[in-house]
Amino acid sequence: MIESVKSVIHNFNSGPSVLPEEVFQEASRAILDFNNSGLSILEIGHRTSLFQSVMDEARSLVKELMQLDDDHEVLFLHGGATTQFMQVPMNLLNENELASYTDTGTWGSKAIKEAKLFGHVEIAGSSRETNYTSIPKNLSVSPTAAYLHITTNETIAGTQWKKIPYDCGVPLVADMSSDILSRVLDFNKFDLVYAGAQKNIGAAGVNLVVVNKNILGKVNRPIPTILDYRNHIREGSMLNTPPVFAVYVAMLTLRWLKKQGGVAVIEKINNAKAELFYKTLDSLPLFRGVVAKEDRSTMNAVFVIDDAILEKEFLERCRQEGMVGIKGHRSVGGFRASMYNALKMESVEALTGLMKDFANKKG
Ligand SMILES: *Cc1c(COP(=O)(O)O)cnc(C)c1O
Repeated sequence: MIESVKSVIHNFNSGPSVLPEEVFQEASRAILDFNNSGLSILEIGHRTSLFQSVMDEARSLVKELMQLDDDHEVLFLHGGATTQFMQVPMNLLNENELASYTDTGTWGSKAIKEAKLFGHVEIAGSSRETNYTSIPKNLSVSPTAAYLHITTNETIAGTQWKKIPYDCGVPLVADMSSDILSRVLDFNKFDLVYAGAQKNIGAAGVNLVVVNKNILGKVNRPIPTILDYRNHIREGSMLNTPPVFAVYVAMLTLRWLKKQGGVAVIEKINNAKAELFYKTLDSLPLFRGVVAKEDRSTMNAVFVIDDAILEKEFLERCRQEGMVGIKGHRSVGGFRASMYNALKMESVEALTGLMKDFANKKG
């Protein structure tokens, strides 16, 4: 058994990020001997029944946890969410057509930039004017748009769509990288969902894509084999060598989530963590939340101290207390506490306790 030293660390990293302890244990055992095969998970063939059962379980766990209907296909693909920024329009948007995008921050903007390479883009709603501290409320989506793209959780800005525009009148596409499976949504109402695994569902190196197969096959450009979703559906995410270990870790994390009681249960826990954090934040004048209250993310809390010296001191205190990843993104500054599914309530209690203590001494 491999001893863990993680117990003293509170990992608020934004991604790659904290995973359940039992996933680390199980994954480390599988590196030495996978399922008593005498082989490491790192050296088995992807076409073996050993790995096929991992892929099958991972895909069926996603179907079950998201309660997907038979039109929705589950894929595990290479490339991270950033690859999806171009793969989505390549598969869904003709050159002379229009796609509707929401501009809610760093990630939404990157998706827009890539879509423009393939067709026309309209901005259905933007929060640029609030410096991305809010989510746009009134969208204007052309009925002729090939799809509407939203970023359900802006990881850097710390905003989250609470009300999903299900009834936008066109196919709905979402980058859910940082809040996938963190809350109950009507996943069948999305036509395409993608998420890099390294925030809520596993290790870096694999991307979850859930796609309604009925929206595919409508563009007239030639699509390279590896980038055509239909080929991956046909081959069951085994068109080429999948990221075997990353798929395995995702499967373990999904198994863990099911064992917790599924998405509805984890949502309650996530809400309780976020509530404790934001309640503490609002009670301490030394700290200031930067996001409009109704749009605050349950996954990534962004906050500041308006004093550069105290900011540095607080970061140092966090470091001393074993709190990792509190420094804000380099483009925003301040602090960010990421509270993904696997982050325990006791970590939020430790952080909020530290904030209170610090504010009492300095405030
Ligand atoms: C992290 C993140 C990405 C980028 O993911 P990669 O896997 O690094 O490509 C895209 N969108 C959102 C919302 C993210 O949080």
